Amino acid sequence: KLHSRIKKLENALVNARLESKEDFLTHVSNKRALSEELKRVEEGYVRYKIDYSICFIDLDHFKTVNDTLGHEVGDVILKTIGKILQKLTRQVDIVGRYGGEEFLVILPSTPLAQGVAFAQKVRQSIEKFKFIYKNERILVTASCGVSERKNHQNQDETIQAADKMLYEAKSAGRNQVKPTAG
Ligand code: GH3
Ligand code: MG
Ligand code: MG
Repeated sequence: KLHSRIKKLENALVNARLESKEDFLTHVSNKRALSEELKRVEEGYVRYKIDYSICFIDLDHFKTVNDTLGHEVGDVILKTIGKILQKLTRQVDIVGRYGGEEFLVILPSTPLAQGVAFAQKVRQSIEKFKFIYKNERILVTASCGVSERKNHQNQDETIQAADKMLYEAKSAGRNQVKPTAG
């Protein structure tokens, strides 16, 4: 009896996880929800030519933060980053956790220049934020890559372009924003 009850609860948990749209740690959209939203904005682009920009954000040297201060501290920082992103975005924007310490923001009806301005705001806010651990300030920075849908063939190429620019931002010394050329 108990065994079957546990089995039922386990199944319910699996379903809840599948249906969930929220990242358990940061409370922004999880990767699944992000994919759905991306599909939606792409439909808006194809059908109504509603353009959008994509901002890829990756925390700098985050492995070092974890290795020196511990995973729990890393988790608290990730949570705070989620809050910062929610605060800086508008209701129509979509904030999601793409991977471990990678976030993606979809900015509907936003051209590249404004996407870059947004990314700079994010970058500055993270750099300025006073993360305190044991009375010491932890400096956290992020790198961003930005792309605009209309400059690319399809959605995947738009995301890849933002990812490529993120890589460029890392190579150029981190804590910076790189937009695609045009
Ligand atoms: P880079 O500046 O090149 O991005 O360096 P990095 O150390 O941030 O990059 P790398 O991809 O090598 O490592 C990402 C690290 O992020 C690995 C892991 O320690 C940390 N990380 C990923 N997911 C989580 C998480 O959920 N919680 C915590 N605390 N850390 C995470
Ligand atoms: Mg990183
Ligand atoms: Mg990364």
